Amino acid sequence: MSLTVVGSVAFDAVETPSAKRDRMLGGAATHFALAASFFDHVNVVGVVGDDFSAEDEAVLTAHKIDTTDIEHVAGGKTFFWSGRYHDNMNSRDTLDTQLNVFETFEPKLSEASKNAETLFLANIVPAIQLSVLEQCEQATFTAVDSMDLWINIAKDDLLKVIAKVDCIILNDEEIEMLTGEGTIVSAARALLEMGPSIVVAKQGKYGAGVITKEGSFWVPAFPLHEVSDPTGAGDSFAGGFVGYIAAHPERPITLEVLRRAMAYGTAVASFNVEEFGTERVARLTGPEIIERVKELAAITQFDGDQPITLRR
Ligand code: AMP
Repeated sequence: MSLTVVGSVAFDAVETPSAKRDRMLGGAATHFALAASFFDHVNVVGVVGDDFSAEDEAVLTAHKIDTTDIEHVAGGKTFFWSGRYHDNMNSRDTLDTQLNVFETFEPKLSEASKNAETLFLANIVPAIQLSVLEQCEQATFTAVDSMDLWINIAKDDLLKVIAKVDCIILNDEEIEMLTGEGTIVSAARALLEMGPSIVVAKQGKYGAGVITKEGSFWVPAFPLHEVSDPTGAGDSFAGGFVGYIAAHPERPITLEVLRRAMAYGTAVASFNVEEFGTERVARLTGPEIIERVKELAAITQFDGDQPITLRR
């Protein structure tokens, strides 16, 4: 079985209230692929410039992630993003976005990428997501992520993508912005009428919820003593979530599978934020993930059926 992801492969500059990095490996597809590689064989579709070194690519290939479909553009520059976090570490300002080689990218997929059972359209220009979606006809589960930038400047293309996928994963503010609805629940209901049968609303450090027509499930973020860099948390959440679904191919997907997928996504994302960029997830181990999922289960379970006599 295999999973194809298309999205940004990037260099990021990140500033938090206590530390700063000028250039580190990042990108939505990179963070997603590292997380999803615990669950399935991952093919990355993307583009980089000749500033992307063999050591950068080795961060992916060391985890048996297939980089055949990462095109190298001679003389080109890799996508660059820079952001600064506010004191609460939950919101940030984008300081710079340079599409560079993504401006002219036309993805041509290898047979292996086209034949994947699972497809994740990570954050990138919706027209590129659409092109990859059209090439992956075999996929039995497709999911998309996006962001405010594309909702603002490429909404029509984004809506075409949304109409064709099984699942959409967005921040709470973005799903409200996309639908014009004022709460996550009403926005999710609106999205369920637009194509997808599964809506995931990420809420940063407050956790995430999954909403379907059958029901919903909510999980907090794993409580940590310290957060170093939230960049890529959403993508590694998506990598754990979609990866878990890819590894459980029975269809239709039950709410039970979705609950566990939420737990695995939450666990991997919590490791991602412990250090800068890809550092922590690149050396993460399977047993560490399993342990954290158990801890997450322990801190969220309670017996709601205990008898009680209330005074009124
Ligand atoms: P997240 O923190 O999960 O929102 O993901 C941040 C990652 O997304 C960074 O590694 C960036 O390189 C990448 N990113 C930021 N802005 C964009 C954009 N407009 N298109 C594609 N990728 C982006």
